[in-house]
Amino acid sequence: MKFFPEKLNIPDKRMKPFIDPGEIWELIRGTPADKASVKAVIAKALDKNRLTLKETAILVNATDKDLIEEIKEGARELKERVYGNRIVLFAPLYVGNRCSNDCRYCGFRVTNRNALRKTLSDKEIVTEVEALEDNGQKRLILVYGEHPEYSPEYIAHTVDLVYGVKKGAGEIRRVNINAAPFDIDGFRTIGKAGIGTYQIFQETYHPDAYREYHLSGRKSDYEWRLTALDRAQEAGIDDVGIGALFGLYDWRFEVLGLVRHTNHLEACYNIGPHTISFPRIKDAAALDIDGRYMVSDEEFTRLVAILRLAVPYTGLILTAREDSDVRREVLKFGVSQIDGGTKIEIGSYSDIKNEQQNLNKEQFKIADERSLAEVIDELLSTGYLPSFCTSCYRMGRTGEHFMEFSVPGFIKRFCTPNAIMTLAEYICDYAGPGLAEKGWKAIDKEMEKLDPQVAEKTRERVELIKGGERDLYF
Ligand code: SAM
Ligand code: SF4
Repeated sequence: MKFFPEKLNIPDKRMKPFIDPGEIWELIRGTPADKASVKAVIAKALDKNRLTLKETAILVNATDKDLIEEIKEGARELKERVYGNRIVLFAPLYVGNRCSNDCRYCGFRVTNRNALRKTLSDKEIVTEVEALEDNGQKRLILVYGEHPEYSPEYIAHTVDLVYGVKKGAGEIRRVNINAAPFDIDGFRTIGKAGIGTYQIFQETYHPDAYREYHLSGRKSDYEWRLTALDRAQEAGIDDVGIGALFGLYDWRFEVLGLVRHTNHLEACYNIGPHTISFPRIKDAAALDIDGRYMVSDEEFTRLVAILRLAVPYTGLILTAREDSDVRREVLKFGVSQIDGGTKIEIGSYSDIKNEQQNLNKEQFKIADERSLAEVIDELLSTGYLPSFCTSCYRMGRTGEHFMEFSVPGFIKRFCTPNAIMTLAEYICDYAGPGLAEKGWKAIDKEMEKLDPQVAEKTRERVELIKGGERDLYF
């Protein structure tokens, strides 16, 4: 929907910086987390209402052990109510690590002379995507450094290329992007390639801290980055993902920054971010940060639970930066998407050989190196329903329409049946006998939870899938 602030007589805040660090610190310092307020805020979130900054400040200030437990319990319940037990699976594909920026936490920074700079050729992209399809992946996020070589036209070209790769029963049905911010025209070019989510992390929402970590290059401009997803929206990309890199600054500030960003997008574009990511700093070649703000596992779990409560309808993404124990734990409190079978060294899915093996090609160290099949196995064993669903964006249920997610019964009508069908495809095409047995049992159990008519239709489609049909969805 087009936004006409002048007609509504309200100030036009689009593409303008929206973070006031003084305001956020005042809220953190001046909002006590007494028992009654924490409980009231949890109750509001459980009614599926997005929280205000002040309410979120109450949650980040809770230090009492019992209250923290209540926050986590609230998040667990809200997750169950909004998302059920589905976990959407994806994999990152690093296309190139050339970069003109000097971010002090990243192995790709321009000053890291030990990094082997590599951009996959078109042929190599195809080979990598084939390897990913052979594992059963259906959803990718393409990742690029920030470099003139990775222009909007080039990114759009790689997206086309990826959609065109069909190996056996394999195909990539959704390509998300994590790349540099562009101007409106640039975003328009990429948007036309039919991408899913455009993800850009602010890293830290604190302007002074931001300046300390981003030494040179386009990315050192805090405001250019902060307003990037506004430009994406102006260019018609209504499916955007935000994130903060935890460990750069006080985690409580970053949580409020993420909520503020969400409010801003909602106020200006009628739609909040589709996803929030919360990577924690991992070891990287040329890492140069003092570690003062590192986030412990306990704080990490807590901040994920707080985000879940603060933004009930926003997907939360947890990546293989975290080890399998942390992933298992954090999954309970609100995560809706994880990657599986992740490799981030450039060219590593298909093991593209390079003469200079001693130089590093990865951005940071990941901690969960399990295969996609192992991740799926564990999800099934712990009561989750793995999903490769890509239906919403292909049915046009994005942007404003994605709010339909809040419509009662939406999950049972669409998400669960689609998860079941994509899992059935995975079982038929890629699972070994043990995993297949577990998968079919999980599917039977999920069918019981569906409305009989929907279950009937889903059963029919699963039979079609068993017979060789693919890509069925509601
Ligand atoms: N170059 C683009 C950019 O900076 O937005 C996109 C790709 S960058 C490779 C993707 C994200 O990785 C960054 O936004 C940052 O949050 C994260 N990252 C960088 N260094 C990291 C590290 N040492 N540990 C964990 N995450 C890191
Ligand atoms: Fe480049 Fe992105 Fe790494 Fe910064 S985080 S050095 S912009 S790849």
